[in-house]
Amino acid sequence: MLIDNHNRTINYLRLAVTDRCNLRCNYCMPSEGIDFVKNDKLFTIDELCRLSDILISQGIDKIRITGGEPFVRKDLMVLLRYLSGLEGLRDISVTTNATLIGPYIDELKALGIKNINVSLDAIDKSTFERITGRDQYDVVHNNLIRLISEGFNVRINFIALEGQNTQDILPVLELARHYDVSVRYLEEMPFNGGSKFFRSIAWDYKRILGHIREVYPDYYPLESPATSTSINYKIPGFKGTFGVIPSFSRTFCGSCNRLRISATGDVITCLYAKASTNLRDIMRGTNAKEKIKEEIVRAVGNRSKTGFEAQEKYENVFSNSMTSIGG
Ligand code: SAM
Ligand code: SF4
Repeated sequence: MLIDNHNRTINYLRLAVTDRCNLRCNYCMPSEGIDFVKNDKLFTIDELCRLSDILISQGIDKIRITGGEPFVRKDLMVLLRYLSGLEGLRDISVTTNATLIGPYIDELKALGIKNINVSLDAIDKSTFERITGRDQYDVVHNNLIRLISEGFNVRINFIALEGQNTQDILPVLELARHYDVSVRYLEEMPFNGGSKFFRSIAWDYKRILGHIREVYPDYYPLESPATSTSINYKIPGFKGTFGVIPSFSRTFCGSCNRLRISATGDVITCLYAKASTNLRDIMRGTNAKEKIKEEIVRAVGNRSKTGFEAQEKYENVFSNSMTSIGG
């Protein structure tokens, strides 16, 4: 079992499979994109399978596949097939922009991979295009509805962006009225490849909740697992639910059970910290399994207590982009 230096059990791995993406969300990377790394700097699928094995042997029992856009990787299903056959993994989930998932929906269902987070920051097509820089709204919307109809556990991630999409906060909630989905509102974080820097945000979770309360004063809180980053609510009469994720306010650090590994092998113990170590060359060297285990134990034993503490320590952390950190 992995226990950090603040006595938090780490059992949840967010594993990025690529830094590449087919969208250009302006809160995530600059419009010209970032310099994607060369292919040989990314873990191969075989290496990702071996890495998962090692971490599962250390107590990880939940893996979220993320990126970049995971489905940009043509061999992603090889990894998902492998993971779905592993004893000891109780939860496999995927975070995606839902542009490329269409052809894989049937197989994901057959593999029993049910938890899919779809990033959708607008319900209005032109707003979507302005934010993502691409004409993909219809594809995303169709795939989203297909995922819901096929019975996946779908959670929609919507980042409240001042001056861009806050007029869609209430309209996007209509999805939760009609479908059994969870619409989660995230606070924006300054991880956008250095193109924007801010120390405060206009739309924190309290303002988002206040905005929703003006129209739905009867919403009530739901029980959430202690390690959940979202605070969840139900509106009477709605099929689905909604939640807020204080990713900038960082109210949830005390129960954080997460570890991130980027597509290039960086071990990131907190979003607001720099990588503690890199595993790629170790994976390609001798005695990889034992050395990786040691590196993971060392990284987990040196975590900042909170995202604020990490931010103090690592000054230029905001030059990172979420597409390379692995969201
Ligand atoms: N491409 C996939 C997607 O968009 O869902 C997976 C990777 S993306 C980096 C993972 C998550 O990070 C998405 O939900 C995205 O909205 C979120 N994200 C990216 N940049 C962010 C930022 N600056 N602040 C808050 N969340 C961010
Ligand atoms: Fe791509 Fe996801 Fe970043 Fe948007 S948020 S640019 S879809 S990695």
